[in-house]
Amino acid sequence: MKEIFCCIDHSDIAIDDFVNENETFPIMEISEANKCGYCMSAAAYVLKLPADHNIMEAGNQNRSNDQGEID
Ligand SMILES: [Zn+2]
Repeated sequence: MKEIFCCIDHSDIAIDDFVNENETFPIMEISEANKCGYCMSAAAYVLKLPADHNIMEAGNQNRSNDQGEID
């Protein structure tokens, strides 16, 4: 399984790389026991393929203005 460890500074890059390679967005979990794959710092996160990675919508679905107004 593909996993990428990254520190906070490299989380953006790591997500980019992940999406490029896997064509889907990762789930991010806290991971403090490893090293960043981009620098020598301790990792803050691990990026993993979601369990159900048929989710091909790489974007925000349904997040806009239909029947929105909750008061
Ligand atoms: Zn880093």
